[in-house]
Amino acid sequence: MDRLFKRKCRCCLVSLSTTAPTEYYCSPECKLKNNNTVNISTDIVNGSRCHEMTTHVWPNGYAYFNHDKKRYAAHRLSWEIANGCSLKDDEWILHACDNPKCVNPDHLRSGNAKDNAKDREVRNRRPTRSATRSAKLQGTKSHLSKLTEQQVREIRYELTHLSNNEISKLYHTGVSNIEHIRAGRTWKHV
Ligand SMILES: [Zn+2]
Ligand SMILES: [Zn+2]
Repeated sequence: MDRLFKRKCRCCLVSLSTTAPTEYYCSPECKLKNNNTVNISTDIVNGSRCHEMTTHVWPNGYAYFNHDKKRYAAHRLSWEIANGCSLKDDEWILHACDNPKCVNPDHLRSGNAKDNAKDREVRNRRPTRSATRSAKLQGTKSHLSKLTEQQVREIRYELTHLSNNEISKLYHTGVSNIEHIRAGRTWKHV
């Protein structure tokens, strides 16, 4: 028979017994809660900063952990807790902050594979995240990338369903640039 470990949940202190020698939490919710932290160096998105997972981060940037032989993606679990409903397999969770280890529900929205592919397509044409991040850390946020004609065409499409703020995050350009495009003041020839 498997040995039973008796301990208290590191988050809520409830008593638990488990056969997993390295399980210190009573629930995936507690694990999520105790292993993320507000990152003060990130931008304010939708009114708050990123809540980054500090453990369980995989090479793809997202955090996953196991509990009771089930695997959880931290950002999906966070969305489910905040919204009080379960995601279907074909529902995706997209980050407004473009920070995969972020679990702040205010930065997460649900979408489908198409939305995700679109986000990814946009992302592939931008500087890599680490390059963007180091530029941010150097305080060169005002140095915003110049848009290409192709990007402006994409942005026109995004205007139909995203806010100026969201688009500016996606394309790493100033909100005023997006406002000008929306108002038709710039890029008239595209
Ligand atoms: Zn607990
Ligand atoms: Zn975030």
